[in-house]
Amino acid sequence: MHSRVDVAPPAQDNRSPATARITAIRVAPLQGQSPQGGWSNEIAEEDSIHALVAIHTDAGLSGYGSAFTSGKLAQAAVEVLKPLLIGENALEPERVTEKLHQNTFWMGRGGTLTHAISGIDIALWDILGKATGLPIGQLLGGRYRDRAQPYCSLLMDEPERMADILLPHHERGFRAFKIGWGPFGRRDDPRLDEAIVRAAREAVGDGVRLFVDAGASDAYWPNGLKWALNTARMLKDYGVGWFEEALKPDAIDDFVELRKASPVPIAGGEVLTRRQAYTPWLVRGALDIVQPDVTKVGGISEQRRIAWMAQEFGVRYVGHGWNTALGLAADLQLASAFPDCDLVEYIGGSAYVDRLTREPFALDGEGYLAIPDRPGLGIELEPEHLARYTPDPAAFFAG
Ligand SMILES: [Mg+2]
Repeated sequence: MHSRVDVAPPAQDNRSPATARITAIRVAPLQGQSPQGGWSNEIAEEDSIHALVAIHTDAGLSGYGSAFTSGKLAQAAVEVLKPLLIGENALEPERVTEKLHQNTFWMGRGGTLTHAISGIDIALWDILGKATGLPIGQLLGGRYRDRAQPYCSLLMDEPERMADILLPHHERGFRAFKIGWGPFGRRDDPRLDEAIVRAAREAVGDGVRLFVDAGASDAYWPNGLKWALNTARMLKDYGVGWFEEALKPDAIDDFVELRKASPVPIAGGEVLTRRQAYTPWLVRGALDIVQPDVTKVGGISEQRRIAWMAQEFGVRYVGHGWNTALGLAADLQLASAFPDCDLVEYIGGSAYVDRLTREPFALDGEGYLAIPDRPGLGIELEPEHLARYTPDPAAFFAG
């Protein structure tokens, strides 16, 4: 049977619904100060691996989002999506984003299109917030907190370099750190791995939260379950709060085993996209902490559903949208809307986080970030700052 059932729209009163029709979607590739990722094929400063997305409307409101992908790919994806977006009501982010997912099933779902949709969805929520005068966290159902602890993400290096890497950020006020990638797990030398973690713990002291990220989504990750298990036991001795990407990202069976046996919580999921991809990881109990990236998973609409699903399975949610100021702002709003999410990732020393906004992010005396209570994402891009990192900022802001 292929009959279609037409459902009559509900009876409406005489007021027309609030609208802000989409008139333009713009992309600003970020380049020139791209931070290193610790990848074996390392990122160069001039590489574009992140892009900002602007959505302009006929209501005079504009919203901004961020996509974790090359600017060229983001631009190509937006060209594909534009016919589905122009004229749409920007004040209905979840419906409009789902329309994009549903109509691009055959066009590369889960990849570049999903990454670009993430930036679009964040921008739509920003517009809804500006139209209603409410921060996104409140639109998501309510704010459980007014601040979150940013953990400063830094790359690992030789043990004797770790204090120099960590201490400037400790002096800036961070009281939580994640160290990862670099030589860790890549030299077949467990004593080196331990020396790196020991040096980091000694540098920051015992009162600081410390997390470790093996970065096993790097190309040709060489280790398996036994390495991960032995390393997890070592990390316990240094008070490490979680062990992230300890196995190749598709090794779900081994993650199930690792979670059961590890004395430290097991975190992962940053490379998964779309809510459907998280279901088996939660159903099978593969993770203690799930880390979707709001700038590639499908945006705030998708991340919210993943985070709530994790709650039902007793799995913690911590966002991974660390790559730009807009990704961080989206993570802060999401953190406000979940009862047990008090952390956001904050890449240490990135111009795309620290130098894009009118007001820089500022840590309070305890190393926390205030979650903006202004409308939408609650932060403002500074066009003059953005001009340093993208070739045509005027086009980006033009409605
Ligand atoms: Mg990671």
